[in-house]
Amino acid sequence: MTNWGRFGKSIWVRLAVFAFIVLAVTGVARLTYAGIVWNNNIRLISELNRTTLNRAEVAVDYAVDTLADLQLTGLISCDEAALDEIRRISFLRGSIKDIQVLNAEHGLLCAGAPIGRELGATNFNFSDAYPAKDDHIYFHDITRNNSGILGVARHVNADTTLLAVLNLDSLLFGIFPEAVQDHARADLVMGGDVEVASQIPPADPDEQTPTLKEFRAVSDRYPLEVVFFVDEEVLGNWNRDGAQKYVDDFSLVLGLLLGWMALIKLAQPKSLLRRVREGLRRREFVPFMQPTFDIAGRGIVGCEVLIRWVQADGSVVQPFRFIPFAEDNGLIVPMTRMVMREALMQLKGQMKADKAFKVAFNVVPCDLLSDRFEQELVEIVSSAGVSRSQIVIEITERQEFADQNKAIAIISRLRELGFRVALDDTGVGHNGLSNVHLLGADIIKIDKIFIDRIGLDVSATTIVQMLVRLAREMDMGTVAEGIETEEQLEILAECGVDEGQGYLVSHPLPADAFLTLVARNRQDDEKLPLNKTGMAAA
Ligand code: C2E
Ligand code: CA
Ligand code: CA
Repeated sequence: MTNWGRFGKSIWVRLAVFAFIVLAVTGVARLTYAGIVWNNNIRLISELNRTTLNRAEVAVDYAVDTLADLQLTGLISCDEAALDEIRRISFLRGSIKDIQVLNAEHGLLCAGAPIGRELGATNFNFSDAYPAKDDHIYFHDITRNNSGILGVARHVNADTTLLAVLNLDSLLFGIFPEAVQDHARADLVMGGDVEVASQIPPADPDEQTPTLKEFRAVSDRYPLEVVFFVDEEVLGNWNRDGAQKYVDDFSLVLGLLLGWMALIKLAQPKSLLRRVREGLRRREFVPFMQPTFDIAGRGIVGCEVLIRWVQADGSVVQPFRFIPFAEDNGLIVPMTRMVMREALMQLKGQMKADKAFKVAFNVVPCDLLSDRFEQELVEIVSSAGVSRSQIVIEITERQEFADQNKAIAIISRLRELGFRVALDDTGVGHNGLSNVHLLGADIIKIDKIFIDRIGLDVSATTIVQMLVRLAREMDMGTVAEGIETEEQLEILAECGVDEGQGYLVSHPLPADAFLTLVARNRQDDEKLPLNKTGMAAA
């Protein structure tokens, strides 16, 4: 039977979506937070890198200024007064360890510090000078063993050069924040390749070779750069612990909330409009056929086509569930066309073999009144190659026509074209029997409410007799619908009703079952009612 209560997606799909949303929200939150922390840490270390370079530049600026000041005093010689001045200045200026006076060949003449002579004599090689932007200034790698000593030379004149010996080791000492200091290396590099000073973290025997993030700040005034290498993993985790828990908690709550909303949404059935539209697209609206039979001779003479919605899972939806809705939403027209086309494709063989075989279609008033109805009906019937006289258009009396004159005109045109018109649900509409006169149909269909009461209530039989008389007077045929018992069938035969349909003979059936029923009825030994022989109900 119908699966009308089919609600949303299955429980497993819903749970999967729920889990996906929770994981996605918490995952995205974690990644986003990690990204923010990472960018912030990169910025902090980059700033530190730049600041360290600035401090190195300032130290060199001091040396450069000191040498210029010394030149201005004119005390550039190796006599005691000059050396005293050199010692005084060296003592006052932070990173300057010594100032030396060199001759034209850059040989050491004298030094402020006693050790300076040894330093200079052992290590100083002027051909390795790196020029600075200021063309009086040169840089020298003095020690080449990472002891943080470098020389800044100022050419005073052709005969004399002043050399300041600087120790920049302390610049790099303890610069990194505690969380990264054991996983970060800092180098002060001169001329692009000489490490003048380095801060190297203690080796960790357990640690795998870490991936390092490089930071490089290059001076635009001196041939100096400060290079950091920081373990990426440590960098990523730094500054993270604080808010991580809040991010996790918040994103979990958010994920659960969104997941819950999705669960509710998925549990809701799709709107009927959407389902009907999808059904039309998937051609799920199919014709079922209920036989109409000759009441006196008990032979099948045709059928009424009754729409069924056969859903993807095989469940069958009855028309009262969706026909009124389809009418309200203008979907009744494509639905009816689909069913007409399909039914004629399936029945055309039978109709061509038996020219008296009639097929009745239900058409709602708004469809009948639409401009394209007549044209489309003609097209559908001719493409099936069947005779128009075999087609019965059932028009219900239950609903009023918006424009009765137009309805009368259309019915008359249809009959001129050769179609037959039946007045459905006769006697139960608003207008009593006045429509029988007005609309001018070929057939009166006597509604099931009268047939139900036949045999129980004499007035019902009287109404049927009256309808049969009226039909004969107007040269119309009669069809009684909803015949369920032999007794009803006998009374209808006595009343002179021409044709009938009802569960007594068969429920509406899919085309192949219907055609089998017709074939069986054609054999002499299979007399109606056939339903007792076990025809499938639908
Ligand atoms: P209807 O035109 O009055 O169709 C007769 C209804 O009575 C059908 O219901 C049929 O299955 C049912 N019926 C026939 N014999 C018996 C019986 O012995 N006992 C009982 N209890 N019922 C019987 P169904 O198929 O549910 O259709 C209901 C209504 O939906 C139809 O009433 C018709 O108004 C509408 N309909 C069905 N198919 C179409 C269609 O293709 N287009 C349009 N516009 N309306 C349709
Ligand atoms: Ca009908
Ligand atoms: Ca009816």
